[in-house]
Amino acid sequence: SDTKIITVIGSGLIGRSWAMVFASGGYSVKIYDNQPGQSTKAIVEIKKQLQELEDAQMLRGEATALQQVALISSYDDLSQALEGAFFVQECVFEQLEVKQSIFQDIERLVGKDVILSSSTSCLVPSNVFSKVQNRSRCLVSHPVNPPYYVKLVELVPHPETAPAVMDTTHTLMTKVGQAPVRLRKEIDGFALNRVQAAIIAESWRLVQDGIISVKDIDLVMSEGLGMRYAFIGPMETMHLNAPEGLEDYMKRYGPGIQRVLTSFGPVPDFCGEGSKGIINEMCELIPSDEQHLSARKDRRDQLLMGLAKLKKDH
Ligand code: NAD
Repeated sequence: SDTKIITVIGSGLIGRSWAMVFASGGYSVKIYDNQPGQSTKAIVEIKKQLQELEDAQMLRGEATALQQVALISSYDDLSQALEGAFFVQECVFEQLEVKQSIFQDIERLVGKDVILSSSTSCLVPSNVFSKVQNRSRCLVSHPVNPPYYVKLVELVPHPETAPAVMDTTHTLMTKVGQAPVRLRKEIDGFALNRVQAAIIAESWRLVQDGIISVKDIDLVMSEGLGMRYAFIGPMETMHLNAPEGLEDYMKRYGPGIQRVLTSFGPVPDFCGEGSKGIINEMCELIPSDEQHLSARKDRRDQLLMGLAKLKKDH
C-alpha cells in the first residue's frame, strides 16, 4: 500500500497521543520504545482509548477505531521501527542526553531527507540536535497535553532548519487536525510556556501579597479571561474591544497597561517559605492525594472533551 509511515519514538503519554493523532489522519504509525514490550502495551492502551472516544463520538478522522488501531504497529527494534518512515516524532524522557543520543542513533538509520521532530517541552532545538550531523531536517514539534483535545503544536526551528522542513511539518500537522504555529527562532520556553509563566508569576504574586485567594484567582481565569481565550487570543480580544480596533485600543488603554506592568513584583520564589501558605490553601481545596487529584483530572479531561466538541462545531 502507499500509506505513508510515521515513526513515534517512546510510547509514554505523549508518544501514545501522537500515535492516535497520526493514525486518525490515515498515516501508518510505527511505535518504538527501548523498554521491551512497552510499545506493545501502548497499543493495548491506545485501542482502549480509541474505543472510548468512538463511544463518546469524539473519535477523530474518517476511519473507525478498529481501522485506526490497525494502522499502528509496535517495535522493540529501532531500525525496524524506522524502516520506510518519512517523519520521526521523538517522545522519550525529557533529558537532554537521552534525546541527544536517540537522535544520533536515529540519524544513522534513516535517509537524509527524513524529518526528525522532537516533542520536548523545555529543551531548545540547538541543544536537542547538537549531535545530529544534518540539522537542516530537524525541528521541535511541541504538543500540549492532551494533544487529542488541545490541538496546538509549536513548531520551533533549529538555527539550521530548512524552511521546507517547517512547511512540510506545518502541512502534516494541519492534515492530521492539529493546530500548528511557527516560531521564527528558538527561545527558552517557546511561546506557550513563556505566556504561561507570566500568568503563573502574577497569579502567585497576587495570592502571596494577600490580594486574592487561590480559589478566586483561578476563577479570574476560568470564569473570566479563559472564557474568550478558548476562541480568540489576546491580540484579537484587544482589537475587538475598542471601536476602531487595536490602535484605538492602545491609545485608550496602553498607558494603563504600562502603568500596571511597571507595578509587577519580582520573579517569585516558588519553593521558599512564603510559598507554603499558597500550597496549603490549594491543598485545602483539593487534597494532593492520588484519589482527589485523579478525580479532578478526569473532570478536566471530560470538560476539555466538551470544549473540543464545541470548537469543532464553530
Ligand atoms: P513518559 O515518561 O510518559 O514516556 C517516555 C517514554 O519514552 C517511556 O515509555 C520510556 O520507556 C521511553 N523511552 C525513554 N528513553 C527512551 C529511548 N532512549 N528510546 C526509546 N524510548 C525511550 O513521558 P511523556 O510525558 O510522554 O513525555 C515525552 C516527551 O514529550 C518529553 O520530552 C516531554 O517533555 C514532552 N511533552 C510532554 C508533555 C506532557 O504533558 N506530558 C507535554 C508536551 C510535551
